[in-house]
Amino acid sequence: MILFTTPDEWQRLRAALYQPGSRVGFVPTMGALHDGHQTLFERAQAENQVCVGSVFVNPTQFNEQADLANYPRTLQSDIDVAAVAGCDLMFVPSVQTMYGDDLSAVRVSYGPVTDILEGALRPGHFDGVITIVRKLLSAIRPDVLYLGEKDFQQLAVIREMVRRENIRTEVRGCTLIRDVDGLALSSRNARLSSQGRRQALAGVQTLHEMTEKASYTSPRVLVEYGAAQLSAQPGVDLEYVEVIDEENFLPAEQFIPGKPYRALIAFRVDGVRLIDNVRIFE
Ligand code: AMP
Repeated sequence: MILFTTPDEWQRLRAALYQPGSRVGFVPTMGALHDGHQTLFERAQAENQVCVGSVFVNPTQFNEQADLANYPRTLQSDIDVAAVAGCDLMFVPSVQTMYGDDLSAVRVSYGPVTDILEGALRPGHFDGVITIVRKLLSAIRPDVLYLGEKDFQQLAVIREMVRRENIRTEVRGCTLIRDVDGLALSSRNARLSSQGRRQALAGVQTLHEMTEKASYTSPRVLVEYGAAQLSAQPGVDLEYVEVIDEENFLPAEQFIPGKPYRALIAFRVDGVRLIDNVRIFE
């Protein structure tokens, strides 16, 4: 696997190594790579001629300085994981390369998709995400962008950005990967104590119960049930439980057969913020 650190270097490598028109699949990450990231690389490799990844801990998307400071940085092992998963080239830019002297994010609102849930609880988060993904897409110019359903709202936000800005990159969402015990894989799980990890399983358990009840109740009752369950769990600090209509990202008022709905949760355990989601009526 080849490492590169600037967009110019990528242009030179692309011209030197690949036929014009070779399909490029791109997997942006913040590193601390795990099996969830690995599936994105594998898919990008399988569906394209070139698989490019990036590792960049984007400062502008962190609304809490402590979260940024504590974010795990494991570049050496990331290189090994990505190479095994089929990543051909890895972009590892500096903050200076991505932002120059202007470490700021453009303020963006696309309606509910940017404004509710993560948008409401993490002010400025999606501004930072949109800013960095725009910069990365303009540096790499991939044919296909691979993003995980783990960050379901982020996926919807980036789809909306690409649509609104007529960016010639196709966005593909990849299934959320879980650990054997059901916990959604996340780079932040490394910061959980063993007790915290057990307590965090209440999240996926609640989501599972919500999907089981969905066929005989309304979205609002389901949300109340999920919130009551999760907030009653020891060690769990609930941020939100919501059920949204995937087509417009609005809180669902009723279930209409055949339409896609998703339950999303965010909570803290051991001070670590965790998110998870499931499709309702799979
Ligand atoms: P991150 O490094 O956490 O910013 O994530 C980089 C990409 O990997 C994002 O598109 C995430 O949604 C995706 N990702 C992270 N964790 C998982 C997971 N458990 N399953 C699937 N995709 C994931």
